Amino acid sequence: MHWVPVAALSDNYIWLVADDEGNAFVVDPGEAAPVEAALKARGWTLRAILLTHHHNDHIGGVFDLVRDHDVEVYAPLDTRIHYKTQIVGEGDSIHLDLPRATFQVLEVPGHTKTHIAYAGEGFLFCGDTLFSVGCGRLFEGTAEQMLAAMDKFSHLPPETLVCCAHEYTAANIRFALSVDPDNGPLRHRRDEVARLREEGKPSVPSRLADELATNPFLRVDSEAIARWTEAHGKEHATRVERFAALRSAKDIFAA
Ligand SMILES: [Zn+2]
Repeated sequence: MHWVPVAALSDNYIWLVADDEGNAFVVDPGEAAPVEAALKARGWTLRAILLTHHHNDHIGGVFDLVRDHDVEVYAPLDTRIHYKTQIVGEGDSIHLDLPRATFQVLEVPGHTKTHIAYAGEGFLFCGDTLFSVGCGRLFEGTAEQMLAAMDKFSHLPPETLVCCAHEYTAANIRFALSVDPDNGPLRHRRDEVARLREEGKPSVPSRLADELATNPFLRVDSEAIARWTEAHGKEHATRVERFAALRSAKDIFAA
């Protein structure tokens, strides 16, 4: 499979994936124009659209794409998504004919209450739940729900490409280093991301194995996060309490 993160809006990535014949699907098209341009530049044909959640920066381009292409749209059950879609939920598998691909649907509420993710073919399309070295804001859900999502992701194959929907990595790393300053792989990732961004390249996708080594929101069971939580006044905190403390600290972190 060929893939490209298409930059859109201020800091969104729209994932475009195609087989050798140029049959493509797109994940979370918040805008149509950059998707059309990317398809045209490569000679690809759009065959399907996958949506993770209802926020407009993830679905804003669907109307135009559906009008101009013969595509099936997959989405969670949410009345705020005003398109004709195939509704999918936890335990469902999506079988695309073109490009030939199968994805498992994971329900991962927290950022929104109906957020889903798609895992398969070596990819994880996780919308605004897992970010590189960070996680999404809790707009409609609880820390417990988002931690459950992180746990689901943790069990995917370590070589999985984490395809998140925003370029937040550098700011996430600044927060992560404030929590876990002695983490060698995290420092290495800081340098790598600085270089990529200087060259104008995306910092994503990342490998799940690298997220497990560097992302504090996937590391609530680590010694480092336990120490940080204790230093911030919570002794004997549960893992949900450690996760919630991290998320609250990130909300107010001045990078
Ligand atoms: Zn969102």
